[in-house]
Amino acid sequence: MAANKKLLFLPGDGIGPEVMGEVRNVIDWMAKNRTVSFDVTEGLVGGACYEAHTCAITDETMADAMNVDAVLLGAVGGPQWDNVERHHRPEAGLLRLRKDLELFANLRPATVFDALAEASSLKTDLVQGLDILILRELTGGVYFGQPRGIETLDDGSERGVDTQVYTTPEIDRICRVAFELARKRQNRVCSVEKANVMETGVLWRRVATATHQDGYEDVELSHMYADNCAMQLVRAPKQFDVIVTDNLFGDILSDCAAMLTGSLGMLPSASLGAEDESGRRRAMYEPVHGSAPDIAGEGKANPLATILSYAMCLRYSFDMGDDADLIEQAAQNVLSRGLRTLDIMQDGMTAVSTADMGKALTEELDKLV
Ligand code: NAD
Repeated sequence: MAANKKLLFLPGDGIGPEVMGEVRNVIDWMAKNRTVSFDVTEGLVGGACYEAHTCAITDETMADAMNVDAVLLGAVGGPQWDNVERHHRPEAGLLRLRKDLELFANLRPATVFDALAEASSLKTDLVQGLDILILRELTGGVYFGQPRGIETLDDGSERGVDTQVYTTPEIDRICRVAFELARKRQNRVCSVEKANVMETGVLWRRVATATHQDGYEDVELSHMYADNCAMQLVRAPKQFDVIVTDNLFGDILSDCAAMLTGSLGMLPSASLGAEDESGRRRAMYEPVHGSAPDIAGEGKANPLATILSYAMCLRYSFDMGDDADLIEQAAQNVLSRGLRTLDIMQDGMTAVSTADMGKALTEELDKLV
């Protein structure tokens, strides 16, 4: 048995604990059937933490997050915490994790499972077999740039300011991640900015090109303006492999790409930090969806986004691509059997609960090994 790997589970609020429970079952399955087991510790985040400690995440949980190999998060938030002071709101826990772990690279795959291709808002042939990865810079750009604020002018009108700012090292490190990821995929990177109208875009394109020439020439690099990229994503999404872009464009383009796949309940994500001296990258994995308070506690949540986030964890934190493939194939097989949670329900398919979906997935894993 290989040395145990350390995971911190932060189920959070709403459907978070339900979907994370199904990941536990997959981990138990792996301990029994594969040569790997995990030390899983659990902590509170978001509203659940606020109820216990009057803050969105405690220093102790942050220290745990710093010491594990990877964090797996469910979701945070809910209407009962809408009036809590901003710095104690559930999202503050998530932001602190991203900031303190310095998770600068956000990976959002947009993969269309064959059985769900018809659920896309695009024509089936445009999305069948789609497998693209949007890599968004997460800790810089216009969401953090200074100065920012709203000021009142002499004439009584107001002026809002945000600052888009990027430095060479910020662009270089995200591009390196893009090239390395591409090497494990179809070896193509499209770098996206607006160099035609923005200074940060000019710098982005220059640095992306220089980084490419610094040991990544084997990867195909292209450049595209962000507005064109938005059009291309809905015109011919399969032309892309890895898209690397800044915080703002990545926010928008990754949501656009997500919708090509049909449902929020199917979308995993990963956020990675820099490598430390031992080569370990801090990392957090979470589904793209929120806490879905409208269906929380009813056994209706689709656990696949969270289970697929765990598969990403195996692939990117533990270099266990074969096991990740296995889980993704099991998800594909469950869908091919016609099992559907309500969010992906289609005519003629069988509606199943969160727990049934999780159980069906481990049954498929059994068949695959
Ligand atoms: P949401 O993603 O929670 O839900 C949007 C819709 O999709 C809802 O109808 C919900 O029932 C459905 N849905 C989402 N995930 C599903 C799943 N796994 N299975 C089946 N159906 C699913 O977004 P929202 O309603 O805008 O936000 C609800 C709360 O979640 C808010 O408090 C928001 O701040 C928070 N939120 C948290 C995160 C996060 O933790 N990363 C992300 C987005 C929103």
